[in-house]
Amino acid sequence: MVTNNPIVSPQSVSINGVRRPFLISGPCSAESEQQVLEAARALQHTGVHLFRAGVWKPRTRPDTFEGRGERALKWLIAARQETGIPVATEVANTQHVEACLKEGIDVLWIGARTTVSPFAVQEIAMALEGTNVPIMVKNPMHADLSLWMGAIERVRKATTGPVWAIHRGFSRYGQQEYRNAPMWEISIALQTAMPELRIICDPSHIAGKRELIGCVAQKAMDLGMHGLMMESHCHPELALSDAEQQITPVQFENLIRGLTIRDAHKGPSNPDNLDALRLQMDSIDEQVIELLKTRMNLAREIGHYKKNHGMTILQMKRWKEVFKTRGAWAEAAGLGPEFIETYLEQVHKESIRVQNEEMCQKNIDL
Ligand code: PEP
Ligand code: MN
Repeated sequence: MVTNNPIVSPQSVSINGVRRPFLISGPCSAESEQQVLEAARALQHTGVHLFRAGVWKPRTRPDTFEGRGERALKWLIAARQETGIPVATEVANTQHVEACLKEGIDVLWIGARTTVSPFAVQEIAMALEGTNVPIMVKNPMHADLSLWMGAIERVRKATTGPVWAIHRGFSRYGQQEYRNAPMWEISIALQTAMPELRIICDPSHIAGKRELIGCVAQKAMDLGMHGLMMESHCHPELALSDAEQQITPVQFENLIRGLTIRDAHKGPSNPDNLDALRLQMDSIDEQVIELLKTRMNLAREIGHYKKNHGMTILQMKRWKEVFKTRGAWAEAAGLGPEFIETYLEQVHKESIRVQNEEMCQKNIDL
């Protein structure tokens, strides 16, 4: 079946030649017809190009809200009829795709938990064979660029419609500031490998908390991303999924108004561009610092253990082993021996200081 959707696309969003982000908003999940209509009405005059709501929700744990299923597709269509805003939802299998095509949903997206599985993506691609409905492919849960590219390629082979990417961050173990690590360098690498691809950022799923969404959205604009997908709900505190990261339509509008949109020609699609390289570097440094923080927290725990077991802070055998293994890893990675020695000495010194603090002793003069 070939559909023909009169939809604005991230390719065409510009006003008087000035780039504008392609805007997607709506609740995490379609909870009831009334909730969907209320959200769509409230978003109608915010400049949003596409209304989103999950109908089948992939939940990490059972016994949580899993979406209203197929019947909720009609609520999206009713929202489009009333507001004129095209609608989008997530698909994870053939049955989802067929139901959406039958109902006339304008845009479909493949979620992060589905992109990780080439079997699942291939199944969706086959269900889409010969159609031209626009598809958005979210990055896989973990930071695997090839897997993301592979999913985009599978969909592109099957359909004649546009395929866009959504950067929603990458999961990692443990509590961090953001729910998902942005790892901007992966999106930049995707853009470099597929320069014609339109990449939309999903600050809601990166941030995980509404107060951090604005910062992430601005960063996406600084990187020259083509659009933003942000979850909104008229009563975020009552949302049945992702309550902490949903904002009200009014907050959505204010956030969009407050963004600084930079010159598209300075975006990261040009790999020679100094700004793009520096932004990649900023992201790497941010992650290195985050990792060092985690390492020092472990050092503190070790200090606590040593204190409880009457052990000394300095354990020569372990230190020699650390020095030797890291030296070999660094050499294999092509890093200079002098650099890595200095780095290890500094890390060790800080680790001892932290453990010493944990033991509540006077600082050892190193
Ligand atoms: C969503 O958009 O609500 C969603 C489930 O996203 P993700 O696949 O990025 O987790
Ligand atoms: Mn969500």
